[in-house]
Amino acid sequence: MTTTDTADVVIVGAGPAGLTAAAMLARSTGLKVVVLERESEAGGIPRHSDHPGYGMRDTRTFLSGPAYARRLTREAADAGALIRTHATVTGWADDMTLAVTSPAGRTALNARAIILATGARERPRPARLIPGDRATGVYTTGQLQNLVHLKHRSIGRRAVVVGAELVSYSAVLTLKHAGCRTVLMTTTYPSPESYGVFNLAGRTPLMGVKVARRTRLTRIVGKPAVTAVEIEDLDTLERQTISCDTVVLTGDWIPDHELARATGLDIDPGTLGPVVDTALRTSRAGVFAIGNLLHPVDTADIAALDGRHVAAQVLAHLDGDRPSQSGVAIRVAPPLRWIAPNIIRPGDPPPSRHRLLLWTDKLVRIPKVVARQDGQIIGAKVLPWPASPGRVFRVPSDILDGIDPGGQAVTISVTAAR
Ligand SMILES: Cc1cc2nc3c(=O)[nH]c(=O)nc-3n(C[C@H](O)[C@H](O)[C@H](O)COP(=O)(O)OP(=O)(O)OC[C@H]3O[C@@H](n4cnc5c(N)ncnc54)[C@H](O)[C@@H]3O)c2cc1C
Repeated sequence: MTTTDTADVVIVGAGPAGLTAAAMLARSTGLKVVVLERESEAGGIPRHSDHPGYGMRDTRTFLSGPAYARRLTREAADAGALIRTHATVTGWADDMTLAVTSPAGRTALNARAIILATGARERPRPARLIPGDRATGVYTTGQLQNLVHLKHRSIGRRAVVVGAELVSYSAVLTLKHAGCRTVLMTTTYPSPESYGVFNLAGRTPLMGVKVARRTRLTRIVGKPAVTAVEIEDLDTLERQTISCDTVVLTGDWIPDHELARATGLDIDPGTLGPVVDTALRTSRAGVFAIGNLLHPVDTADIAALDGRHVAAQVLAHLDGDRPSQSGVAIRVAPPLRWIAPNIIRPGDPPPSRHRLLLWTDKLVRIPKVVARQDGQIIGAKVLPWPASPGRVFRVPSDILDGIDPGGQAVTISVTAAR
């Protein structure tokens, strides 16, 4: 490594979470805040997600992804943050020094605080162990939107979209924009995971999408390019072949956690992202984590609001505040798969928006959520919104108000209220 640079705060990832944290931390503080982004432009996923639906809770507007990305980038730059694109963090030189690779070479960047905001991605075909031919024409939504909206490349004419969650409808919109008809969406669940309004829209002539429930993709057919897929009915085990030239694999998120793992941060077995407390501190003092790296995957405004939430915690750290060493772990019971944040410490702030973020593998239309510690119920709530697979289930954090700071881990469970 040739040179070592220094900063007060380094943020890895210029998506909604990283850019919002950068704007908050650079504005009127005099701190040197550097944002490192491996892509050629800042903005994260919204940059190539060219449809409306961004910014409602943080900017109180309803923007397209690219417009939202431009706005957050401008706000961070105007606040004085230094945004370095084409700069990939490839490792750690020591606990508080990042190794950065850019066209200019390899450098080291030391910081008093580091915020990981590297986001999440959809797992690609090899990771999903899908049998069949290794055909071209198979994408994740991210890859599809990159090709269509950023590279302006043409794709096929008939698509099968695997998944029926929010992001799956985003894929349908992109396919439509590219002149490709979605002939079928498949979901392993008994009903689509998306919000009812999207499912209704999906059935209108505008999108005209048929959803095959309780089905799974069993084979991709075609050499060298996709010509069909085979799907299986999970109840009857009958299989059918659907003719198509494009397959989009949606959902099935995994955090971009390589940097967190590489430096030995504690990793949560549920989210697969770093373990954090409600102040969004990781297991290493001075290293924080925000956005979809922690909760794969929530909407962009929630990621951005993590950025706002972490700023005060980072400033407190730079001022010498240190958290209590004790803390109570928060766990979940099936059908819940994960929760974020993962630790409650005495004296810490409530989580961002006073919400715990959870993921369920089963639809519970009227959920009763119960928190237990040391065999006792310490909180319970019936919520008026469903716990649905394919999107984050948000639970007010005051369900943990009765926690005993000296007690064992808390377990949160969900059942049908009636
Ligand atoms: C297809 C699709 C449609 C969506 N539609 C909507 C919608 O309509 N409304 C909505 O609110 N949300 C939507 N979302 C979700 C939204 O995009 C995410 O919630 C949001 O982008 C998360 O922000 P983030 O900052 O956590 O991560 P990201 O946006 O993923 O940003 C992370 C950034 O980190 C960079 N990075 C990662 N590793 C490194 C490294 N080692 N070095 C340097 N840089 C690195 C990445 O290049 C990326 O720019 C959609 C998502 C997808 C995939």
